[in-house]
Amino acid sequence: MKPPRFSVRQLRWFFILSTLSASLMAYSSIFEPPPEVDHDRVTSSLYEGGRFHNTEVRHQMGLVDGLNAMVRNITDKSTDAVPSTPVATAPLTPEALLDAPDQSLWRLGHSTVLLKLEGKFWLTDPVFSERASPFGFAGPKRFHPAPIAVADLPEIEAVVLSHDHYDHLDHDTILALQTKVGRFVTPLGVGDRLIAWGVPAAKVQQLDWWGETALAGLRLVATPAQHFSGRSLFDNGRTLWSSWVLITPSSRVFFGGDSGYFGGFKAVGEKFGPFDVTLLENGAYNEAWPDIHMRPEQTVQAHLDLRGRNLVPIHNGTFDLALHAWTDPLENIVVQAAQRGVAISTPRFGERLDIRAPEPGVAWWRTPSTAGSRAKQRVDTALHTGTVVAVTGYSGAAQ
Ligand SMILES: [Zn+2]
Ligand SMILES: [Zn+2]
Repeated sequence: MKPPRFSVRQLRWFFILSTLSASLMAYSSIFEPPPEVDHDRVTSSLYEGGRFHNTEVRHQMGLVDGLNAMVRNITDKSTDAVPSTPVATAPLTPEALLDAPDQSLWRLGHSTVLLKLEGKFWLTDPVFSERASPFGFAGPKRFHPAPIAVADLPEIEAVVLSHDHYDHLDHDTILALQTKVGRFVTPLGVGDRLIAWGVPAAKVQQLDWWGETALAGLRLVATPAQHFSGRSLFDNGRTLWSSWVLITPSSRVFFGGDSGYFGGFKAVGEKFGPFDVTLLENGAYNEAWPDIHMRPEQTVQAHLDLRGRNLVPIHNGTFDLALHAWTDPLENIVVQAAQRGVAISTPRFGERLDIRAPEPGVAWWRTPSTAGSRAKQRVDTALHTGTVVAVTGYSGAAQ
């Protein structure tokens, strides 16, 4: 039998439509209903017409923006958006965690950070699944295994969530973790999703911006962010997004979640700064969505607004969520930080960082072929310590 023949035009449309459907499945689930939000309970000034809103920009990423982004995902994607080989991590053992001194943190992936504060463990935006997606078979796939399995994690005093996007809130991870977690602290509405998934309501605490709670010696404050939320095609803004301030008697950490650059950083810096470490998003930016994610130079500015001492860029190195090369955020922010005299730390996934005396780390995102010479490594060190030397020689490599 003769195989069916298709014209180039038909094949092109077939390709575009199948890629669009795959992208659609990757970014949204039409199956997950929005959480039940108790309208009597939601007294937030950010809540209007059944949805939460930003304070400085009214426009939010909607369905049309999402579809535009999907089309550009096909037409404008960097060929280096995904690493050619798995990203190397530093494996982490339960013993290493228990033996580690207090005031330590470990990047475990994307925006997943484990902190040891006041003798307890705290975890931000835990995503341990293979994909940041509603589906196991489609959507952004991680570049590296988690440096430690959920089963090997110690008891977690609290999980701190920034918002409900798939790269920050993962259904399977939450359910796998929940028996070893004392409390889930979330922005308004996100906790309702957890309760709908079966997490006991007694374990869930939901806060509005500037709301706070004290747990086991840690003061946790929900602070503003400029972003959006939603896990399906039609639930944009049904839950709140936030950043978080973590305060102990001996240290202060800022966890930014996802945010565009806005005046909120300065407000938080004035109220709660200076911070020993700022964990700030640096990755998934694009000129098509300038309000809801920051470019590297804006991340550095946000760190300065917050009165941060040491910047740890997160939201990079694990998932492909934008159009840029996967190494661009890290290469660029190192240069930007040096130019502004900002101390920056880039720990490998699984590598311990001392919150009060952070090491700069190495340029782990470079493959052996791009890692370069010993001279370049010296430049890296200079850049990491904020000494502005040989930036021109370095920036060539940062394209
Ligand atoms: Zn997000
Ligand atoms: Zn994100």
